[in-house]
Amino acid sequence: MSRWIALGLRRGMLTTGYPRHPDPGAPPAAVRVRAEALTAEQAVRAADLCPTGAIQVEGDAGTGALRVDMGRCVMCGRCVRALPDAFTYSTAPEVAVRSRERLTLRAVWSRGEGPQPEAIEAAEELQRRSLSLFRRSLHIRHVDAGSCNGCESELQMLGSPVYDLHRLGLFFTPTPRHADCLLVTGVVTRQMEQPLRDTYDAMPEPKLVVAAGACAIAGGPFEGGLTVRGPLDHVLPVDVYVPGCPPSPLALLHALLLAVGRAQERCSPGVRDGS
Ligand code: SF4
Ligand code: SF4
Repeated sequence: MSRWIALGLRRGMLTTGYPRHPDPGAPPAAVRVRAEALTAEQAVRAADLCPTGAIQVEGDAGTGALRVDMGRCVMCGRCVRALPDAFTYSTAPEVAVRSRERLTLRAVWSRGEGPQPEAIEAAEELQRRSLSLFRRSLHIRHVDAGSCNGCESELQMLGSPVYDLHRLGLFFTPTPRHADCLLVTGVVTRQMEQPLRDTYDAMPEPKLVVAAGACAIAGGPFEGGLTVRGPLDHVLPVDVYVPGCPPSPLALLHALLLAVGRAQERCSPGVRDGS
């Protein structure tokens, strides 16, 4: 028996059981906020630490509010290291959402009842009806619109035996003519705006757009740069946002399944004690 067959038999199956079973090796996928554990002064400190403006304080420390935008978070970990009681990593890969607002937590600490994540209604009935058309399989055209290639490294892993996206009916295609879904990484530079629009226009209807990573969602560390035209939703209509820098392969898998209506949206930047 060949050495490789023997090795395969010894190691058993390596492919993740996700989404049917949770993946025990899931890496941190997002920063979670326990806003009620923060004082106003700590919130101001966290806002000062955050390099991308993902944590902001509105108003002054006495009467204002904390705003945390996971679309801007680049997972640098500064807030987690400085204020571990209030900021933690979450390994749950279900971080993708269907509307940009769902990535934002707003918490008010001055009213006495404790901060509450704002309820943001994300009902998009028309979109959901169109998503049901894709239930069985999805062909994905990926476009790098100005990425550092971190997101591509994670995307590449989806084709490995560990994640094996084909088992879920998900396939990358090199041509937009065969694609149901446009998955975009990177900031959308001015040079990539037109090629991106051309790719989108070449896709048949109905079609979906997924913004993958902090750069595509909000510009990430390059927000406001001279050559940046994005974020992506200023250029194309976005159906699913998957935060992270980069998003993990499991988070990308969840986003694609969410896009075709085969997964639930679970993300909320805020956590309550005991949840
Ligand atoms: S981990 Fe995210 S939210 Fe925290 S400081 Fe870094 S960028 Fe800001
Ligand atoms: S989100 Fe992070 S990993 Fe992805 S392209 Fe931007 S900087 Fe690179």
